[in-house]
Amino acid sequence: MMSAAQKRQKLIRAVRLYPPITLLVLVLGYLAGGFSDIDDPMIPRDLVVTGLSFYILLGPALYIIAFIIVAAASDRERNGLPDNAQRLSYNDPFDLPLEKMQGYKLAVITEREPTLRGLTGDSYRADDSAVCEKFPDHTPPVASCECGFYAYRNLADAKFESSLNPGAFLLEVDLYGIGFRYEGGYRAETQVVNKIMIPKRCMRCRILSPKVFVVSYRMGFQNNSWMQWQVRCNICSLTFKPEDKLSIPDMNRRLGVLIAPRIARQNNE
Ligand SMILES: [Zn+2]
Ligand SMILES: [Zn+2]
Repeated sequence: MMSAAQKRQKLIRAVRLYPPITLLVLVLGYLAGGFSDIDDPMIPRDLVVTGLSFYILLGPALYIIAFIIVAAASDRERNGLPDNAQRLSYNDPFDLPLEKMQGYKLAVITEREPTLRGLTGDSYRADDSAVCEKFPDHTPPVASCECGFYAYRNLADAKFESSLNPGAFLLEVDLYGIGFRYEGGYRAETQVVNKIMIPKRCMRCRILSPKVFVVSYRMGFQNNSWMQWQVRCNICSLTFKPEDKLSIPDMNRRLGVLIAPRIARQNNE
């Protein structure tokens, strides 16, 4: 039985098929004589135009319906659990993971002095203990709260999320201390970042291999801007001043984390 999260991933992959399918349908329509003025086309022109109109309306409508169904399914999955244990996938609070909690997660590198920052906005060092922003007396993770370091168990799940967040880097982490199993991964007390897996291609042109980190201002909501590091090829980093660049070994030293290229098929499941 697929979980709602897996269904969501499948659906988003399916949406990516829509443009090539559309192109194929248009080419077939063209070959069938739908766009020409010849007297005796293979298929009547009206039929081709009607077919295309239906496809244009029906395709997106089907995707929207599927998204609503998947969202409803994930709501149902969550409502099945008691309020406090929402989204925590354990029944017995003493059934803690005994395996080594190794996982994967996404982070951006921000600030002039490179700083790892989770997608929720919290910054952390390469070796750090979680703090609870809401309740200072918590020692994360607290079952009824959201505090603690999170990581996916499977690289495939983290890779999928990274395809939705192209500015983020993929991290390999080990979690220690008290930990909970959580949806597709863990939530734990302390975290050590083992490795930053940089993309195989430049984060700007997506063609050449990345050679150097560059920092630039990103515009955010409500006039907030922040500095963010990207790894780019030699051409896409040409316009940057020397003080806005950092070589890969230098970034490694500043963050205190190994930086390695992403390997194509690394224990995918
Ligand atoms: Zn807390
Ligand atoms: Zn480039």
